[in-house]
Amino acid sequence: MNEMDQARRDLVIANRILAREDVVDAYGHVSMRHPQDPGRYLLSWSRSPELVEGGDIVEFTLDGKKVSADNRPPYLERFIHGAIYEARPDVQAVIHSHAEDLLPYGITHAKLPPVIHSGSVIGNDVPIWDIAEKFGRATNLLVVNMEQGRDLAKTLAGNRLALMRGHGFAAAGRSLMDAVRIGVYAPKNARVHMAALRLGVPLPLHPGEIEARTDLFNPNTAEMWRAWEYWARRANVADLLGEPPKAAKGTSRN
Ligand SMILES: [Zn+2]
Repeated sequence: MNEMDQARRDLVIANRILAREDVVDAYGHVSMRHPQDPGRYLLSWSRSPELVEGGDIVEFTLDGKKVSADNRPPYLERFIHGAIYEARPDVQAVIHSHAEDLLPYGITHAKLPPVIHSGSVIGNDVPIWDIAEKFGRATNLLVVNMEQGRDLAKTLAGNRLALMRGHGFAAAGRSLMDAVRIGVYAPKNARVHMAALRLGVPLPLHPGEIEARTDLFNPNTAEMWRAWEYWARRANVADLLGEPPKAAKGTSRN
């Protein structure tokens, strides 16, 4: 199978996982940078992630234009993706979600720290973007043009996750699997943090701990594949899985 076909399949898997794990519902989306052209990205047309199939994946330029003629309507908020790819050459995949567990933090400007080991994926700092600050108090809250996308990307800066006030979040991954990992674990981390607040003052992970976990989850490790394969099975798309990386052939270590 060629690289583009596998990229489309992986993106279908990512869509289905995020739907199955309740990170997205009818709304929300996930994209990946084009594997052969960093000036483009792959994203479904405006379908719910649960329903996305290979033929739904469309190529866009970073400013949100379709590369080839296609009458299917795109996501209104595709500019979130292109603006982050434009600002962050290190980012290979982007998720936009309205996951409820993170919304209270964006509304109150309460800090969302990583507090559990799997929550290390959100990074040390989770900035909050408020569309009203630059675009006034009468927007529909959606990111519907590049100017708004670029402003969000500016707030995200070099971080892995940015909250969007009263709306959701944008996550930036070093790979598609990495982005999915942020999408799945950020809400879990928020739930544990909320529960801990009832008992006392939660202790965040130390920066050194976050750093120490970064390399565990690059796409070529057995640890990453283990989760990807598990989530794909839960989402009933294991048949789309590609070849596991060499490190993952054999017994997983933890
Ligand atoms: Zn949205």
